[in-house]
Amino acid sequence: MDLCYNENDDFCGIFLQKRGNYGIMETAIYVKEDNMNILISACLLGVPCRYDGKSKPCPEAAELAKVHTLIPFCPECFGGLPTPREPSEITDGRVVNRVGADVTGEYRRGAEEALKLCRMLGCGCAVLKEKSPSCGHGKIYDGTFTGTLTDGDGITAALLAENGIPVYGESDIPVLLSETEEIPFTKMHGIGNDYIYIDQIRGVPVADMSALAVEMSSRHFSIGADGAIFICPPEDPANHGRMRMFNTDGSEGKMCGNGIRCAAKFLCDAGYVPPEAGEIRIETLSGVKTVVLQKENGRCTGAAVEMGKAIFAPERIPVLLPEECVQMPLEAAGQTWKITAVSMGNPHAIVFTEDPESLPLEEIGPFFAGHPLFPEGVNAEFVRAAGRNRLEMRVWERGSGETFACGTGACAAVAAAIRCGYCDAGVPVTVLLRGGELTVTVSPDWDVTLEGPAETVYSGIWRRK
Ligand code: SF4
Repeated sequence: MDLCYNENDDFCGIFLQKRGNYGIMETAIYVKEDNMNILISACLLGVPCRYDGKSKPCPEAAELAKVHTLIPFCPECFGGLPTPREPSEITDGRVVNRVGADVTGEYRRGAEEALKLCRMLGCGCAVLKEKSPSCGHGKIYDGTFTGTLTDGDGITAALLAENGIPVYGESDIPVLLSETEEIPFTKMHGIGNDYIYIDQIRGVPVADMSALAVEMSSRHFSIGADGAIFICPPEDPANHGRMRMFNTDGSEGKMCGNGIRCAAKFLCDAGYVPPEAGEIRIETLSGVKTVVLQKENGRCTGAAVEMGKAIFAPERIPVLLPEECVQMPLEAAGQTWKITAVSMGNPHAIVFTEDPESLPLEEIGPFFAGHPLFPEGVNAEFVRAAGRNRLEMRVWERGSGETFACGTGACAAVAAAIRCGYCDAGVPVTVLLRGGELTVTVSPDWDVTLEGPAETVYSGIWRRK
């Protein structure tokens, strides 16, 4: 491998050469200024490095090369395999070729070379040939050599992803190109729990939703929100849409009771729901949720959501305790608190206290969110029973900090309050949060319904830096 410098001694490229049993693989990379470096499977750029000595040129890669610096690389060649070679597939974690030889070592060596190169050149992402046992991401051949696909990553794709390098397939190139475009968004909130909504049904496709959520959500420096919610096509056409929700730190949340009400309004306002519809179904990471629309003058203004069951079973929250966690002492931030742990599709720890307003949540919230008793983290709710079937609460959300409102948190608080004797099952309970009021009803079988408003603040166009 040689590094290349221009006449001013600035680094401008790299020359790679690998001698295989049947010849030499050479790659010359010229680094453009001000663009992202992208590692790309060499076969996609027409290099005849495939097992059959052919290439798999991809026309969209040429478009990508106009915008970014592409670094062609073949992990199998750089792992020491000849071209042509027997095709290989992954089976039981080993890479085995069609005549039964184990070539896992060569594949791993190639993957390590790819990672080294990405690190050396600061690659922002990798575009790798889909389905390959080296380069495939998400789906790969299943080891039967019958062309059947299975879920999984190739050896190189897995290593890059594990080391924080986003991996895309060639079919994602249009999405990567669109990253440079303008992205329409709508800012919405449900009693102050605000999210940025981005249409992925007809809108500009976004490749890295997590990164965009971080970029847009930063308070004071950006649009500012509790996160971003991407409205995607449903996986089951019987449903109306799918929501993917990302917190301000880029972590993906399973479900948000306030967010889904606004998602329902977004789907209605964008015309994805027939005007006469009284209820719709939205897919979430916590399953399909039925949302009953509330309308004024034909416009959706709020919604009631069937939130599923409140769950106290410790392994399903999860909380590392042998039995249900109801008013159990927990050490956090130098104090002992009595917590009740509930899952509403995401984990909650509820603390009943006389005066939630006086608590320094900025200080104590992180101790709860990252407490080792909760292996997936936890949202913490600090709740006052302000009368029979009326609660006042503040919430600290893992990944977002204190928020004005948390729908699943309000549901979990009511379930915990029923369990602890502060509220009644089957009766609508008013929950006052910093951003306003929600109504939560929990049946005697722990089925939960959440009701509240959904509002649009404004729409705009986001121009990526
Ligand atoms: Fe293409 Fe990757 Fe296979 Fe090399 S290892 S031929 S780059 S898919």
